[in-house]
This record gives sequence, C-alpha cells and structure tokens, in this order.
Amino acid sequence: MENNIIKCLIIGAGPAGYTAAIYASRANLQPVLFEGMQPGGQLTTTSEVENFPGYPEGVTGPQLMADLRKQALRFGADIRPGVVTAVDFSKAVKEVTINGKDTYQAYTVIIATGASARYLGLPDEQKYMGLGVSACATCDGFFYRKRVVAVVGGGDTACEEAMYLSNIAKKVYLIVRKPYLRASQVMQDRVLAKENIEVLFNCNTVGLFGEEFVEGAKVVEHKGTEQEREFDIAIDGFFLAIGHNPNTAVFAGQITLDQQGYILLEGKTSETNVKGVFAAGDVADSRYQQAINAAGMGCRAALDAESYLVENDL
Ligand code: NDP
Repeated sequence: MENNIIKCLIIGAGPAGYTAAIYASRANLQPVLFEGMQPGGQLTTTSEVENFPGYPEGVTGPQLMADLRKQALRFGADIRPGVVTAVDFSKAVKEVTINGKDTYQAYTVIIATGASARYLGLPDEQKYMGLGVSACATCDGFFYRKRVVAVVGGGDTACEEAMYLSNIAKKVYLIVRKPYLRASQVMQDRVLAKENIEVLFNCNTVGLFGEEFVEGAKVVEHKGTEQEREFDIAIDGFFLAIGHNPNTAVFAGQITLDQQGYILLEGKTSETNVKGVFAAGDVADSRYQQAINAAGMGCRAALDAESYLVENDL
C-alpha cells in the first residue's frame, strides 16, 4: 500500500500549480497534478500577457499556460484531468477524492485552485447567462462584432476586457460604481483615450432586459444620493469584471480560510494550518493576484513540500 501513496499531489492547473509541478518533479517528488475544471486556469481566458518576465514581445495566456504545462511534463509530472470533489486532511496521510469516485492518498497536497469570476448577484444575470451575459470577454467577445456591449468594473480586468471588446464591438460602456478607475495608470490611460469606450462613472447596474437575449441594462447613477437617476442603455452583451472569489468551497472545514474564503498561510511560507498541506497562487492571495506571483508561490509550495517530506522521512 505504501507505494500507492503519492508524495506530492497538486490540485489546480494555473501558473501556481504548473510551477509547483515543475519544481516538484525536478526534485523527484513524482507529483500528480489534477487539472480541475479549467486546465490552464484564468490565463486561458486572457488575450495578451505583457508582464510575465521572459516574454519581451508578450505572449497569449493560452500559449503561456501551454508552455508551463509542457515544462512540467518534460520533468515527468503526471498531469491528469479530474475535479477534486472532497478532501480529508484529518490524518497524516491526506485523502483527495476526484470526480466523486476515486480517492487518492498523498503525503503532501499543494492547493492551487485559483479564483473564479464574481457576479453582481442580480437574478437577471442567471436569466441571461449565455444569452448576453458573460464573465470572459476573450471567450465570448467574438459574438459581439460591431455591436454594443457593457463591461462592469473599474479594475485592471475590466479595463483589459473593455479594451479587448473595443476592438471588436462598435461601442463599449464601462460601468464603474466609483467616480474613478482602480486600474493601473497605463490601463486607465488606454481606456480613457479609446474613442469607442464610454465610461459611466458613479453607476450601478440594477437589472437587464430583453426578449430572449440581452437588449439593455438598467443603470442607476449616484445611487442613494439626491442626484440619483435611473436610465437604460441599449446593449447586446453584458460582461462582468468585478473581481474574483477563491475556489475553496471543497476545503471549508478542513483548513483555515480568511473571511473572504482565501486560504490563510502561516507566516511567509506556503504552509496552511494543516501539516503537509500547502497552498499557492490566487487561492491564497487576495492582494496581488498576478500570474508571476502565483508562479512564485507555486515554487515556494513545492520547496516547502519537499522539506516536509525530508523532515518527516517520507
Ligand atoms: P479588482 O478587485 O482590482 O477590481 C474590481 C473592480 O470591480 C473594482 O473597480 C470594484 O469597484 C468593482 N466591483 C467590485 N464589486 C462590484 C459590484 N458589486 N458592483 C460594481 N462594481 C464592483 O479586480 P480585478 O479582477 O480587476 O483585478 C484583480 C487583480 O489582478 C488586481 O491586482 C489587478 O491589478 C490584477 N490584474 C492585472 C492585470 C495585468 O496587469 N495585466 C490584468 C487583470 C488583473 P471598487 O473600486 O469600487 O471596489
């Protein structure tokens, strides 16, 4: 039985998971990585990545992830499809169940499940899901050629999505709830200079309408103040870009999470509160959420897992 216990089981296939797999396989930990629902992670829904060191001309998100995956495979990482549906971290040997049926045992587990797009919580978002509502401009932007779309959010993601869509659609509204953008200066400058992007500051979306597909959004400006006014905008597509929720539901009750659901790490390490369980990437980082940072955290997690195995003679 001893031989069936995986030394290092990695959950998640974004920059953190793949980097952990590169380090773990080079250290001969024979890692097994389960890719989850979105192999390649969020970067597979990004167009151009310009800030990942080593790519002076930029690289597409899918290409970057394909490169990381290939690098992990080169050193022998065992990369498998499969979604983690349950875990039991209560004993020294951890148990991880895949797709609700196969349970694997592992001495160390690295959680790199990332985060997922957040929605406003409007019933209309569900009603028009796939019928004009999307959280991924690069996936669905193509359908809105020469049409009018809205993007919600004021961060880098929203600005990136608005820029991307502005090259496809006729017009893009950027709906921002504050009187300013939170995005980096370079992204703000690009968005504000783009003639077919109209930024609606101080605005909240309160509903969507349309016969079958989205035909418009109900927007409230200066909500809750004396200047409050409601108006409709005619749109064909409605894109959410308001941040992310960590993918930790399956770990609740097993490891310590913060109030937002992100995994809490011990000091400057990748250790969770459970010995032998480590975390890396956006799932444990509500602050930076950058691919390069996730990759760095994946490296740390693999090194920490290796130390744990050595210290415990495993
Ligand atoms: P952020 O948390 O940075 O921004 C979220 C935006 O959505 C904010 O403008 C926020 O408004 C708004 N928002 C949140 N909830 C609501 C709501 N209920 N209604 C309306 N608006 C809402 O998330 P991002 O995904 O943009 O970015 C996450 C991290 O990733 C950041 O650190 C960012 O810099 C980074 N990033 C970097 C990129 C790059 O460098 N190429 C690309 C994409 C992301 P408010 O400001 O009022 O809170």
